[in-house]
Amino acid sequence: MRHRWTDAPRHLCWILISVSVAGCATLGSQGQALIPTRYQTRTGPFIVFTSTPTAPDAPAIRCLRALESDVATTLGMRVKTEEPAVEVYVLNDRESFNHFLRFYYPELPSRRAFFLAQGSRRVVYAFQSDRLEEDLRHEATHALLHVAVGDLPLWLDEGLAEYFEVPSSRHGLNDEHLARLPEDVSLGWTPDLAKLESLTTVREVTMRDYREAWAWVHFMLNGSSANKAILLATFADLRASPTQAKPLSQRLAAGEKPAGALMLAHVEKLRTQPVAVSPAASASVSTVRLQEPSQDAPVEKRGFFDRVRVWLGW
Ligand SMILES: [Zn+2]
Repeated sequence: MRHRWTDAPRHLCWILISVSVAGCATLGSQGQALIPTRYQTRTGPFIVFTSTPTAPDAPAIRCLRALESDVATTLGMRVKTEEPAVEVYVLNDRESFNHFLRFYYPELPSRRAFFLAQGSRRVVYAFQSDRLEEDLRHEATHALLHVAVGDLPLWLDEGLAEYFEVPSSRHGLNDEHLARLPEDVSLGWTPDLAKLESLTTVREVTMRDYREAWAWVHFMLNGSSANKAILLATFADLRASPTQAKPLSQRLAAGEKPAGALMLAHVEKLRTQPVAVSPAASASVSTVRLQEPSQDAPVEKRGFFDRVRVWLGW
């Protein structure tokens, strides 16, 4: 089983092995179910569950429809019709979501949205907020990738989610990450894909790692047709054998120039493009999501995570 968690800066994702969503719970004296199931809206591979009616052209529905198209166009990945639908539960508000988390996942830190895969089920949980579309695009990206490829390396899964979480009109351009990377460089940071690939748990992943993951993904998808072919070949290999697929760093090592320098040059080129600094566009896209480590809710050392780590051999 796989969890991808996100939050206010969010995007801390947990890989778990077994959580069952079962039982019956209600919110307060209103008797309202914790998990909305009353209304269902189908769009492509998604079924969106809400407690109030959702119009077919509601922003949440449209963003999922657009995401499916974006992933198909960019990566050539489409969910087969015989696949079980990705379940998307949108709770009414943060209070309801927190209550839901406390009831079903009391050992997990509070997050704004998350994805989990359990057997053939892929489930996204989120709640109504001004960042719902961003949350849905991020988590639903995890879901689509899981259906199409299976388990991806952590850094690649997150880099792709960061890439696709921005509206379609941005074509993967995450303004916040783009703005912060030069600062990273000025502080002495240099790209290190092999190091990124060595990360296996989200607790190891820093905010800068998320930025770097996004940058590598953008570089691979937009830097050149050869780069994109390498990335798509990686997906094919991961689909065939997740444990045998050659890491991307090794695939890029065959190039004439260091891949890290080429990636940084790509980022710099993006920064000088007018579209990257459009005030109107920047104002309409909120991409600051990564949670400060100090804001993380503490996790009981002998709690659920430790059991999961044992199961996973961490
Ligand atoms: Zn994520």
